[in-house]
Amino acid sequence: MAVSLKKFLKPLSLFSGAGADFESDISVYLIMGTALVFAFLVHSGLLIFSLLMGFFPLKVFNSISLAFYCVCFFQLRKKRYVFTGVALSLEVLFYTCFSVYWLGFRNYDLFYLLIVLVMQIAIPYAAAAVRVVLGVLIGFVAPLIIVSGMYSPGPRFLNTFDFPLTCFNIVVGFSGITVALVIGNVINKIVEVSQQLRMETLEAHAYTDSLTGLYNRRYAEQYFGLLSKTINRGANAVAMLDIDDFKQINDTYGHAAGDKVLIDLAALMLAEFRKTDTVIRWGGEEFLLILNSVNPAQAKVILDKLRQKINGHTVETGGFHLSFRVTAGIAPLDIDHIEESIARCDENLYRGKRNGKDQIVL
Ligand code: GH3
Ligand code: MG
Ligand code: MG
Repeated sequence: MAVSLKKFLKPLSLFSGAGADFESDISVYLIMGTALVFAFLVHSGLLIFSLLMGFFPLKVFNSISLAFYCVCFFQLRKKRYVFTGVALSLEVLFYTCFSVYWLGFRNYDLFYLLIVLVMQIAIPYAAAAVRVVLGVLIGFVAPLIIVSGMYSPGPRFLNTFDFPLTCFNIVVGFSGITVALVIGNVINKIVEVSQQLRMETLEAHAYTDSLTGLYNRRYAEQYFGLLSKTINRGANAVAMLDIDDFKQINDTYGHAAGDKVLIDLAALMLAEFRKTDTVIRWGGEEFLLILNSVNPAQAKVILDKLRQKINGHTVETGGFHLSFRVTAGIAPLDIDHIEESIARCDENLYRGKRNGKDQIVL
């Protein structure tokens, strides 16, 4: 219960500014800007009507409203989306009260309430709790406005601009609801896409070894699941490659030098293998290699070439040029019994270690 309440109260990070990425921020800015421009244009129209009708209280209110929206534009520039949304909603609420009180409700001003009500439901500009409070407030105020329109002592005169104003309010009502719904949909789409991107980034991080940039062992579990569906069922080879005397490299040159060796080796392997081959950092200085469409004998040739390249390679670290060696064991890849295949190449690897290292064993 505590968790769901917390969730309920938590505004979308997108709108609070925290964690929002640049594109989302720009989109929300444009969306809230559209809502403000819409409200500003409506009040400009209403100001023209009040000037034509020569009705002083509405002239004053609409002028104040336009000035108020200018302040809102400044707040929006400071990315205060919640403030902007709440301010806009309350302004419309006050304006509707005021206008119905003075003109009666025959001009369909009540449509404005409907627009802000739809806005609370469709546009997640603030925490759900804030929007629910505003929605309830609108629900309570609406009947009071109707009563005030019926019994207000204010001038309820008929005017030549009565009919055009009614048409204007109806058009604004329908277009306002449409704009609110479109904005709500666009925001939901943005949230959906940015969450998807975030998930993909998280997944990519979860499956990548941060030191070498290679796939990690967690990826291997997923990969093996897909392997039987994607790899051709002909000859494929699997190999386990291990750096020789790596502990000694660390002890002699330091852990950072050891890291540099791992990074260099990863780059050498990626350069040597084809795109269809897969290199996974299996453990500390052990790498699992899946070589696609090659038999174990061909894999031995490929790995021997890599081994020779490594032997001619030096790692530059702290003024030293250190060299390192590798040993690898190869086995045929049985897609239906991958663990056994790995165990077999592991056995070959340890045979190579026992036989003097710096070799590829089949
Ligand atoms: P062998 O030739 O039999 O493989 O001997 P080895 O010294 O390479 O193997 P051993 O298992 O004795 O030592 C592996 C070392 O690798 C120990 C560990 O501290 C080091 N290591 C594991 N992960 C990392 C890493 O990310 N960075 C560095 N620098 N060292 C690591
Ligand atoms: Mg080793
Ligand atoms: Mg090892």
